[in-house]
Amino acid sequence: MAPAGTVLVAVGGVYQVELAEGGVIEAVLRGRLKRDAKADGRVVAGDDVTLALQEGTWTIESVEPRRSQLNRRAPGPGRPRPKAIAANIDRIILVFAAARPEPNPRTIDRLLVLAESNEIEALIVINKVDLADAATVAALLAPYRAAGYRTLSTSVVQQHGIDELRTLLCAGRSALTGPSGVGKSTLLNAIQPGLGLRMGAISESVGKGRHTTVAAQLIPLACGGYVADTPGLREVGLWDVDRENLDAYFPEFREHIGTCRYARSCSHTHEPGCAVLDAVAAGTLSPARYESYRLLYEEQGEA
Ligand code: GDP
Ligand code: ZN
Repeated sequence: MAPAGTVLVAVGGVYQVELAEGGVIEAVLRGRLKRDAKADGRVVAGDDVTLALQEGTWTIESVEPRRSQLNRRAPGPGRPRPKAIAANIDRIILVFAAARPEPNPRTIDRLLVLAESNEIEALIVINKVDLADAATVAALLAPYRAAGYRTLSTSVVQQHGIDELRTLLCAGRSALTGPSGVGKSTLLNAIQPGLGLRMGAISESVGKGRHTTVAAQLIPLACGGYVADTPGLREVGLWDVDRENLDAYFPEFREHIGTCRYARSCSHTHEPGCAVLDAVAAGTLSPARYESYRLLYEEQGEA
């Protein structure tokens, strides 16, 4: 059987691959795959591959079908198309702070829409809960719980929620994202010493690279899971999100959408008999979440 492995990172046509039997090697794409890659089927971090060793050089021979794909809209002119950032990610963990910096609901909701449109589970971690009282934290999380998202509150200072986060990260592949300064590196160091430092170094080197603004890197954890660093994820263009399907990416809107007077054609922005607008007015839907919907709706109109 051909050796199998998982791509950890791709930089300039060189792929770091973790072998299933242990160890990390560098590989290049076999000719046929290279042509496919140019035609859009890029091999990315998280891809499961089979390999061959020929005259001392490892080549990636084939790529397994992906069970998930984290897409952004490819930048630049021309026909809109998706660009894979990472493959086979099991969940996206959005990390925010209860304070310092103050959470920005627009950033959170944009990332949630990114996760929804890619059909990847999203979880919200609110860190630095030592800096806010319990009622404030509960109020911050309430709209997301109501939308059905799993949430976790953590404090590195109080060692609160760290074990739960570790359990989560040690199974499967988690992409970690969130604004800088919220404590991502500190949390990762608390999970596995040195891990935060490694992530920080990657973000910095990738950020400085001219061509690779959002190359993801997968880091294997000692406990078995993987953490994917996805620099720049907050800023990427959304793929497969437009005005017509945006409402489906706000899970708590779904039960209302069907009862709008103009049902499927309702934009939920101004129509009479709009069940979403009614629910916001009645306090059943979060005004902050609705505001994010409106802003993304405008944004998709301009795109
Ligand atoms: P990153 O940019 O998201 O990786 O954030 P860092 O891990 O660099 O943390 C930013 C700052 O927040 C540092 O000064 C940390 O010491 C601090 N910090 C991290 N976690 C906590 C926490 O749970 N509580 C408090 N009060 N500060 C924290
Ligand atoms: Zn409506």
